Amino acid sequence: MRIMWTRQAKRTVRNPSAMVLCPVSGMFLAILYFVSSTSPLARAQGADGTKYHVNSARLQGTLEKLSEFGRNPEGGVTRIGFSETDLAAREYVSGLMKQAGLQVRVDPAGNLFGWRAGSESLPTLLFGSHIDSVLHGGNFDGDVGSMGAIEVMRALNDHNVKTRHPLEAVIWSNEEGNHFALGTLGSGVAAGLLGPEILSRKDEQGLTLADWLRRYGQDPAHLTDARIPRGALAGALELHVEQGPTLDETKVPIGVVQGIVGIREWDCVVTGFANHAGTTPMNRRKDALAAASKDVLAVRDVVRAESGFQVGTVGYMKAEPGAPNVIPGRAEFPVELRDLDTAKLDHMWEHIQEKFKQTDKEENVQTSCAPLEDVAPAQANPAMQSAIREVARALGLATSDLPSRAGQDSQNIARIAPMAMIFVPSRDGISHSPKEFTSWQDIANGAEVLYRTILLLDERMDRK
Ligand SMILES: [Zn+2]
Repeated sequence: MRIMWTRQAKRTVRNPSAMVLCPVSGMFLAILYFVSSTSPLARAQGADGTKYHVNSARLQGTLEKLSEFGRNPEGGVTRIGFSETDLAAREYVSGLMKQAGLQVRVDPAGNLFGWRAGSESLPTLLFGSHIDSVLHGGNFDGDVGSMGAIEVMRALNDHNVKTRHPLEAVIWSNEEGNHFALGTLGSGVAAGLLGPEILSRKDEQGLTLADWLRRYGQDPAHLTDARIPRGALAGALELHVEQGPTLDETKVPIGVVQGIVGIREWDCVVTGFANHAGTTPMNRRKDALAAASKDVLAVRDVVRAESGFQVGTVGYMKAEPGAPNVIPGRAEFPVELRDLDTAKLDHMWEHIQEKFKQTDKEENVQTSCAPLEDVAPAQANPAMQSAIREVARALGLATSDLPSRAGQDSQNIARIAPMAMIFVPSRDGISHSPKEFTSWQDIANGAEVLYRTILLLDERMDRK
C-alpha cells in the first residue's frame, strides 16, 4: 500500500486492450501441452505438468538476505524509498540481476530494471514490484514480487528457456511514499502521471527529490525520460502479497486481481452553533459533533448495506471550539470510499449524502462536503487474468478473483499497458507491520504461477 499522491490521478483510466491473444484460448493451452514439445511452455511444464521450475530455497535465500537491509530489532524492516538503506538494498538486488545475466539499468526516476533479450522484435513483458517499505514495515510487501521476478529470470536460465518477447524485471522506486508523500513515485513517473513538478519536494532532512535522484546516480533534469511510451510494453505483471485477509481466511493460495480499487475522498464540515453547555436546553441546540457522529455511522451503514468488496471509512473527526463546557459549533471529518466499480462509488456517495441531509434536518445543522481525491479504478486485463487462472489450475492451485484495495504500482502501469496482478495470502491479513507473513510455500506457488503466466503470455501475445 502507499500514500495517495493527490489530484493528478484524476484522469480516467483508459481500458488497456492493446494485447493480441489467441481467440480459442482454452484449447490453445491444451494444444501446447500435448503437441508443442519444443515450445518454451512445454519445456517449462515438465513431464507431469505440475513440477515447479522456480527454486523455492533460492527464492527464500534472497528474501532473507534482502530482509537484512533496514532490519528492525522487533522484526521487519524500515527501508524507506530514497534512503541510504534503500540504496544499499538496491545494490544487492542489482547484483542479483547481473548474476542472472540481465542487462541492468536505472532510469531517471530511480526505477531499477534487469532486461533479458527475446528472440523476436516485440514489445517487452515487464514484471516486478518494489523493495521500499513503510516505517516499521514487514518483509513481504513488495519484496515477494521483486525477488519473485528475479527468481523467475534465474529459473528461465536454469531451464534454457528462450522467450519471443524480451523480458524485464523491475523494482519501482518509492512505492510506499514515506518520503515526499508521493507513493508509487517511480511507476507514476514511468506512466507519465508525475513530472518535474515533484523534483523540489523535500524530505524530513530537507533533501529534495532531485538531491536523492543525484545520489541514485541520476540526472533529475532528465526525469521525464523515465516515461514508458504506450506500446513499449506487451504487458506488465506483478506478484504481491494480498495485504488483506481474503485468501488466508478461505485457504485459497492464488488471488487473481480484478483491478485496483478507485479511491474517493471528501472533506465534510458540519456547521452548528457553539453555545453554553450548561444554559442551552437540549431541544435548542445545534450540536455539530452530535450530528457528525450520526454521519459517521451513516457512512458505515450505507457501505455495509451493499454486497461486495467495497469499503468506506471516516478516519478522524475534529470538533471546534473543543472545550468540555461548549456545544461544538463545527465538526470536520473526511469520508473515504473504495471500490472497483465507479457506478457503485457514485451510488454509495449519493446515498450517504441523502443520509447527511436527513441528519441536518434532525439536528438543525448544515453539512457540506468538498471532494479531495478521486483516483479512478484500474482494471486488470481480462486475458491476462485468465492466463493466471489457467496456469494455476494446471498446477492444482485454487484461485479467487478479488480486487486490490491497496494502491499499487500496477495501477499506474495500467494506464500505459495491459496489466495483471497475482496475489498470495497474507497471514491474518496483516501488512505494513513486522508481523506481516506469507509462507514459503505460498511464495513459491506465486513465483511459479508468475513464471508460467509469463511463458503463456509470451506464447499467446503479439501473434500475427
Ligand atoms: Zn506493496
